[in-house]
Amino acid sequence: MLAFLDYDGTMTTHECNEIVLQRFVGDAWRPLEAEAHADRMSHAAVFDRQIGLIRAPREEFLGALVAEAEPAPGLPAFLAELDARGGRPVIVSAGLREAIAAVWSRDKLPPVELHASELVGGGPQGGPPYRLAFSGVLGDCPRCGPRACKGAALRALRRPGEPVLVFGDGASDLCPAREADLTFARGHLAERCADEGLEWRPLADFATVWSDVDAWTARR
Ligand SMILES: [Mg+2]
Ligand SMILES: [Zn+2]
Repeated sequence: MLAFLDYDGTMTTHECNEIVLQRFVGDAWRPLEAEAHADRMSHAAVFDRQIGLIRAPREEFLGALVAEAEPAPGLPAFLAELDARGGRPVIVSAGLREAIAAVWSRDKLPPVELHASELVGGGPQGGPPYRLAFSGVLGDCPRCGPRACKGAALRALRRPGEPVLVFGDGASDLCPAREADLTFARGHLAERCADEGLEWRPLADFATVWSDVDAWTARR
């Protein structure tokens, strides 16, 4: 079994990127977010433009992302049970790899395969102006744009016959949710899964995931 996981707002108790953007750029990130929700701009282009608004030094920006991150309740036990069942967790995120890795080591979380973005700083000491270099595991998609689709990442990572659980909350998680066997969703993704009639369950926290998975397996 493959657990295909979004990071921000899914494995964390709140949206760290949004909180940190608000702190550093005020409301300037919000109109861009609305474009992504309405599918007028790709979520990848939006996130890259939002990161480009930030003028804070690199360490300050990354440090704020790490400081805001609180792992979702039940996450370590969920990962331990996945391992016991022979499954594998893969995080596929447009978020910043350095920040996610720092949270994992700070909180001594169980190992996961991580595919996330590099923060590219064009200024001195890797500082602003910033842009994102998305993980190479992302692929092309008319909805997400070139080399920005998590659905393509799912197809690349999935082994033949392997059941896939997708966990997400945002617009970028819809493409993998369309290909999942079962999706755990909150926020915007939950609305989109409901609209499209996908097989999904609400993700309250990670403590109840396995009972939902077992009930779903028993009915297949
Ligand atoms: Mg998210
Ligand atoms: Zn896509």
